[in-house]
Amino acid sequence: PFHKSKGQHILKNPLLIDSIVQKSGIKSTDTILEIGPGTGNLTKKLLEVGKSVIAVELDPRMVLELQRRFQGTPYSSKLKVIQGDVLKSDLPYFDICVANIPYQISSPLTFKLLSHRPLFRCAVIMFQREFAMRLVAQPGDTLYCRLSVNAQLLARINHLLKVGRNNFRPPPKVDSSVVRIEPRRPLPPVNFKEWDGLVRICFNRKNKTLGALFRQKTVLSMLEKNYRTLQALQLVPPVEDAAEMSAFVSVLGDAVGDLSIADDDDNGEDDVQMDDGDAKSGFKEMVLGVLKGGGFDDKRASKLTQSDFVHLLALFNKAGIHFS
Ligand code: SAM
Repeated sequence: PFHKSKGQHILKNPLLIDSIVQKSGIKSTDTILEIGPGTGNLTKKLLEVGKSVIAVELDPRMVLELQRRFQGTPYSSKLKVIQGDVLKSDLPYFDICVANIPYQISSPLTFKLLSHRPLFRCAVIMFQREFAMRLVAQPGDTLYCRLSVNAQLLARINHLLKVGRNNFRPPPKVDSSVVRIEPRRPLPPVNFKEWDGLVRICFNRKNKTLGALFRQKTVLSMLEKNYRTLQALQLVPPVEDAAEMSAFVSVLGDAVGDLSIADDDDNGEDDVQMDDGDAKSGFKEMVLGVLKGGGFDDKRASKLTQSDFVHLLALFNKAGIHFS
């Protein structure tokens, strides 16, 4: 009866459900968003502690089962079920999100929640273990990646609970973890498109030096194109206010991880870069000048902190170099 393609793995361990609900810190005044309620084992406990639950469920059979389960109980008036794909639905206001989600939507769902306004207080979500470890990874950790940096720009993220596969029916192929995501307030004054553009380049090969990555023809020509366009339009996006930016950098300062053994998915050797042969490329010198000036040319993304990336983006922008 369960659809694998919809990621239907039902939580069967009541103690585990209690523990998730307890760690969520739900208040009796909270409107709770649940994604993928399934048969409603978690929903029932959420209804017991919160003011109301809005549950978004893709599978119409599950929606029916859920409605039947609470019909005629005091809970039915506290529960609103929305049938549909959460990624395509307009989300209502909520204070807190608690969910055991289908793992295939982990990344788009996380960023959909983080871009929802007004911001919610926190989200407590079950993810596949590896995804969870990527979310919380710190510089130097094996799993530190673009996802870690982007999610941690927007939220404080903590690992709450390891969950073995046998807590589900049917058991999935992987272990899981419950993670707490608390949006940063205020959100950092960073242009997210620019941020993502920079981070994509840096993590394209996270163990290569930035100097090597920014010497690549494709990167340079993309940046130069942006540069020329903006110059021509005389429409340079405003550089973030310096005071605000440095306040943000200091806020992020606590995210600095200890250097632990980095494991490489690339070998860390810097390939010799092919120069275009172009005798003097002023733009290239400009880009490398920014890297060297900030002491970044021999650094690698795998070891850079949030505040390093914020700082580097500000340096590039100050020089008129933009990533979107
Ligand atoms: N919350 C229940 C529990 O813990 O027992 C069920 C969790 S099960 C891992 C995921 C649920 O999400 C399924 O009921 C599935 O039908 C639903 N689902 C899958 N894709 C979805 C989507 N895109 N939007 C909303 N719900 C979805």
